[in-house]
Amino acid sequence: MDADVVIVGAGIIGVATAYKLVEAGRTVVLVDRKGIAEETSRGNAGAFAFSDIMPLATKDVLRKLPRWLSDPLGPFTVRPEYLPQITPWLLRFWRAGWPDRIAAGIKAQAAMMRVARRETDAMVAAAGLGHLVRSDGVLELYESDGEIRAAAHELEVKTREGIEHRLVRGAELAELQPGLASRVVAATFIPGWQTVTDPYDYATAVGAAAMARGAKLRKGEVRALQPFGDGVIVEFTDGTRLSANKVVVAGGAWSRALTAPLGDRIPLDTERGYNTTLLPGSFDLRRQLVFGGHGFVVTPLSTGVRIGGAVEFGGLKPPPNFARAEAMLRKAAMLMPGLRTANGTQWMGFRPSLPDSLPAIGRSRPSPHIIYAFGHGHLGLTQSAGTGKLVAELVTGAAPSLDLAPFSPQRF
Ligand SMILES: Cc1cc2nc3c(=O)[nH]c(=O)nc-3n(C[C@H](O)[C@H](O)[C@H](O)COP(=O)(O)OP(=O)(O)OC[C@H]3O[C@@H](n4cnc5c(N)ncnc54)[C@H](O)[C@@H]3O)c2cc1C
Repeated sequence: MDADVVIVGAGIIGVATAYKLVEAGRTVVLVDRKGIAEETSRGNAGAFAFSDIMPLATKDVLRKLPRWLSDPLGPFTVRPEYLPQITPWLLRFWRAGWPDRIAAGIKAQAAMMRVARRETDAMVAAAGLGHLVRSDGVLELYESDGEIRAAAHELEVKTREGIEHRLVRGAELAELQPGLASRVVAATFIPGWQTVTDPYDYATAVGAAAMARGAKLRKGEVRALQPFGDGVIVEFTDGTRLSANKVVVAGGAWSRALTAPLGDRIPLDTERGYNTTLLPGSFDLRRQLVFGGHGFVVTPLSTGVRIGGAVEFGGLKPPPNFARAEAMLRKAAMLMPGLRTANGTQWMGFRPSLPDSLPAIGRSRPSPHIIYAFGHGHLGLTQSAGTGKLVAELVTGAAPSLDLAPFSPQRF
């Protein structure tokens, strides 16, 4: 064989998987057409959202959906030309929000988050990445008692799962985050929430740690994977080939191009997300803020103040519509008077999303030597080290850290 394990995709999932594999004693070649963290993992909101255990399709979100969909620059939109293509995905998304599915989804996600937290802590400590992590919690902000009541069920679930949180108002809220508009009446404070100082810095540091332990990076675009006997042939678009004992597909939102020809029909699509990064000091931001009613978050980064979120269904091809980033910035200025909105940098990324808000982690249908690790949606940074650990267990044949059935790529 030319290689032991080839990982296709050097986003945060690919690099964290490389780290966990070299830690387990395997030899790794990371392949990416662009380099480390040049796509979605580059510009996200930087949260280790270990407490986000609810599927996206909650009753609250499904209730808000008609209003959101009617606003072309709102938090959740479908580009009209993409509607026929995304309809089956949306139907599955809606189905994932039924009570019978929600309970199972929460159980699986909570188990995943426990592994993710443990594996992130271990990797951050062992690789010396502590200086890239902030542990000052998050404020989830409300503008009315109705919003507080709507959050009650989710908070009950968090309590049941042992996630510390408390409602804050008045002076306590003002101390945790000064300078908010008076229409912000309360918040849930989750002290255990962490953020990274910058997602690109963090991902490249994880990649560097994997390489310092022996992983290699190869630039190139993979065209196809061909299982054979005890291994896999990796075919590149330049015509070169590489044989490997195992191949991990961590191609984010682009993974379907490799998995569909193998006969795996996985409903992977992309939720395009937008943000603007303002200059450092643009607001006296004490910790990450989540404005759930408006579908955006505000993150304090070493590189500036990042404001963004939103979900846009439109596939991988159309150019960004940065009017979305501007709309979120206007709302942020209204909720955070004093925010200096000049000279921001706009960005769009492609969340790799499955309709039940769980990633696909498991073996391919035709070959046990091809392992999938994609579809982390809004939670790829959060679940990267956990995913890496689970993939390393699949590769080495070690006992899995959790029941992988809910994450099976063949579950749909
Ligand atoms: C606005 C926004 C905010 C977000 N905020 C958060 C957050 O706060 N916390 C969180 O946990 N998550 C967040 N996310 C989600 C998170 O960014 C993603 O889940 C995560 O980046 C996905 O990582 P990935 O490695 O799977 O994909 P990517 O980072 O997209 O990497 C995939 C890589 O595969 C490569 N590739 C694909 N196909 C091929 C091929 N055939 N050959 C060679 N290379 C290939 C690509 O070049 C790319 O580098 C956010 C996303 C967005 C858009």
